[in-house]
Amino acid sequence: MSRLDCPVCHSRQTKRLEVVYEQGLSNINTSSNTGGVGLGFGGLGVGIARSRTRGQSQTALSKKAAPPEKMGCAKPLWIIFVVYAFLNIFDSQGDNVANILAAGWLCASVAAIAIVSSYNAKTWPPLKAAWDRTYLCSRCGHMFTVGDSET
Ligand SMILES: [Zn+2]
Repeated sequence: MSRLDCPVCHSRQTKRLEVVYEQGLSNINTSSNTGGVGLGFGGLGVGIARSRTRGQSQTALSKKAAPPEKMGCAKPLWIIFVVYAFLNIFDSQGDNVANILAAGWLCASVAAIAIVSSYNAKTWPPLKAAWDRTYLCSRCGHMFTVGDSET
């Protein structure tokens, strides 16, 4: 038994997650090209039809095999800003409350950036490294990571 055999069903039909993921992506390109052929007018309608095709044609397997994503700052910062703006609407207490709110917004934003960068610098690399060594059994669907302690 090689170390790439499935530990559950001992099948040899295992694939790296990266391969599974990229095969799912190539399906997307094929179908979106087909959708774009022979359409002369109605640009908006075409755009909607094409993106719908594109979304559906990523296989469920490819989504499941997607690599761990790095965190982005934009979304948490946006949420914090919306909360801040929302609280500001109800602020009728004068400058003190407004200052506290602004300080809170600033602190929360700095904290969010710190959390995101620390995630990307410390938590994400081992996740990505593990993903690089993860295989999917195409017989029973079991996912397993290879070579954790051996290499
Ligand atoms: Zn298996």
